[in-house]
Order: sequence, then C-alpha cells, then structure tokens
Amino acid sequence: MSRWHNAGDLQMMNEADRSAEIVGDGLAKSIQAQALLLRKEKTDAERKIVGHVHPWEAAGLGKAPFVVVGYREEVYQACQGAPIQPGTSCDYCGQGIRYVVDIQAACGACFKVGCDCAEKTHKKGTPVYTKAKRYRLDMQAKRRKERAKVRIQAAQEALETAEIRKALSESPHPNKRRADKGDTLLDWSLWMMRHAGTKGRLDVARCVEKIAKEK
Ligand SMILES: [Zn+2]
Repeated sequence: MSRWHNAGDLQMMNEADRSAEIVGDGLAKSIQAQALLLRKEKTDAERKIVGHVHPWEAAGLGKAPFVVVGYREEVYQACQGAPIQPGTSCDYCGQGIRYVVDIQAACGACFKVGCDCAEKTHKKGTPVYTKAKRYRLDMQAKRRKERAKVRIQAAQEALETAEIRKALSESPHPNKRRADKGDTLLDWSLWMMRHAGTKGRLDVARCVEKIAKEK
C-alpha cells in the first residue's frame, strides 16, 4: 500500500467494490478505474504539498531555494544585571532566538530563522545547512570562552581572599613530589593562574568554586 493511501481512498475503493455487486462487472470496472485515476491525481497533488515543497515555502515565507544573507546576535535585557534573553523570534517556528540567520528566498522575500531551523530544514552539505551550523558552532565557542573568562576572573578574585587562601593551603599540592616537599594546593593554584592556559586556569576555578561552595 502506498504511503499516500488514506481513509478517503479506502472509502472510494470500497464504494467501487460495493457497486460491483449491485450493477454488474462492466460498470463496476469503470467505477473502479475511475477511483484509481482519482486516487492517482490526489496522490500527485499530495506529493506536491508534502514531499517537494520546502517547509519554509509551505509556511508562506517565500519561494525555494533559499540563501543565507547574514547573521546577527539579538538579545534582550530588561535592565542592567537582568538575565540576557533571546532578542527576537524565528519566523518559521516562532521560538525565541538569540543567534539569527537572515534568509532570502528565490522570490526576493527576506526573513529570519534560528540556526536550528536552518539546519533541520536543509540537507547536510547544502550551503544553508553548512553556514547555519558553522555560525552556531562559532557562537557556542564564543559563549564558552566568555563563560570561562568570567569563571577565571571570579577565581582570581577569590584567590585574593584570606578565607580561600587558607582553605587551599590546607590541602596538598596535586603533584606528589611537590606535596612531599610541603607545597600546597594554594601554591599550585597561584602558579597555574600565572602560567597555565585557559584549561588549566579553569581547573583552578573549579577547585576554588568547590571550596567556596563547601564554606
Ligand atoms: Zn525556528
């Protein structure tokens, strides 16, 4: 049974079968043939809607194919210190979005979508998919970097406080040889903050955060 076969088609076929009992074979055959023909036409129409029209086109946003014409970050903050929220919404799904992909349709219509929608509605490897994915990954990396910077800065400030210094100096240095010499976690933290890269400094931040939480 084809995937286009639905309740309406079945009813049509059943009616054709019932007619066969009532009016005899010749007429029934022609009714059956007509039903088949109708079903085929309906199938073609459905396929046009479901299978070959891009969802953005079906949603009335514009004619396919689509191209990416820009990217931007849109945020909304009720007041200073309030959480940063998505500043606009996706024209396709309505969800709030922060990272916007600007799209132009073949007919010239312009609209905006989120990276997720751009990726979900285009095949892997197509320009829209690739560009939206790259933008999303770039922005995720940027936010990771920003979050790391905030955590490291907070840890650096905490390392200036007597309370955190004392707690760290009561734990041994993570390197056994250094610990045996009497070096502490504070020595390690200060050294790492001065010489390590982001990853190493985040290790210190994690350590400091844990101690602050236990206090
Ligand atoms: Zn969307």
